[in-house]
Amino acid sequence: EAKAKKGTGYRVYDATMNLKVMKKVELEAEARVALRENQFSLALQPQLDLKSHKLLGFEALLRWYHPDKGHISPAEFIPLLENTAFMLELDYWVINKATQLVRELNANGYPGIKVAINLSAAQFLDPSLPNFLQQQIINNDIAPSQVCLELTETVLVTDIERATSVMRKIREMGCMLAIDDFGTGYSSLSYLKSLPADYIKIDRSFISNITENADDRNIVHSTISMVRNLNLQVIAEGIETIEQHEMLCHFEAHQGQGYLISRPIPETELWNTLEDKVSSGVWKSTI
Ligand code: C2E
Ligand code: MG
Ligand code: MG
Ligand code: MG
Repeated sequence: EAKAKKGTGYRVYDATMNLKVMKKVELEAEARVALRENQFSLALQPQLDLKSHKLLGFEALLRWYHPDKGHISPAEFIPLLENTAFMLELDYWVINKATQLVRELNANGYPGIKVAINLSAAQFLDPSLPNFLQQQIINNDIAPSQVCLELTETVLVTDIERATSVMRKIREMGCMLAIDDFGTGYSSLSYLKSLPADYIKIDRSFISNITENADDRNIVHSTISMVRNLNLQVIAEGIETIEQHEMLCHFEAHQGQGYLISRPIPETELWNTLEDKVSSGVWKSTI
């Protein structure tokens, strides 16, 4: 690439291109150091049964604490790392951490809780994913159904045939699949019909206006009915108010997550928070 840029014809264009490339390369290098130096961690956001407040699972969300720059949001660095070799490495690191956490939950009085893991498109289509996942499940002696992979519609539109075949393989192993950010991509009803998935997560952008905006309310309500009719479960994300929670209950969404229930909990605070919420009955234990 550097050689190709030696020509004089495209100097101005190249300079801006270079900047972008540099940024990505720099970030990738920094992220590699960060992983070695333990700057990454997981935050866990509880997923509750909306009606019973039973604690069903946690979504694992990546956190980067940089010694100089402070917290860097995944919304910032993940899109930039997308399609780098390092993103794959990081995604595998997350699977490893998340499955270990499930083992610890099982062993410490919270058995049967699921962990939901976000995967980049590249990782989902990576041929080594199914075996790696299987190995982590065996190593940690956890049930495959305790692992849920979250994919966005981007994965599906990239290569629907291949994506569907990987999805089948993952489900044959007994793991769960969720379609994340549903409604924001190129969802079509025809693909939804044949999709081997377990959960549909309705994007926060629809949930945040359901009490004020009749269009969003109707979209959410009819999406829930449709998804229920397809025998999939609905997870509403980004619930922030009691009114939203009540409306979603009334529309019969199965599960919910959001700041109203809990912000993502840093790993270091997980056990204390769990103990608090479960012993006070705010979150009902699965046992
Ligand atoms: P996502 O998977 O849709 O995750 C939901 C995001 O919404 C999270 O942001 C979460 O903290 C935030 N959120 C949850 N409840 C509320 C709420 O009530 N109100 C508001 N305003 N926000 C809420 P976060 O942690 O910044 O993650 C952003 C995105 O980065 C995620 O979106 C996901 O696409 C990606 N991501 C996070 N962790 C990973 C990871 O380990 N691997 C990959 N490949 N992507 C990840
Ligand atoms: Mg997600
Ligand atoms: Mg989401
Ligand atoms: Mg999102």
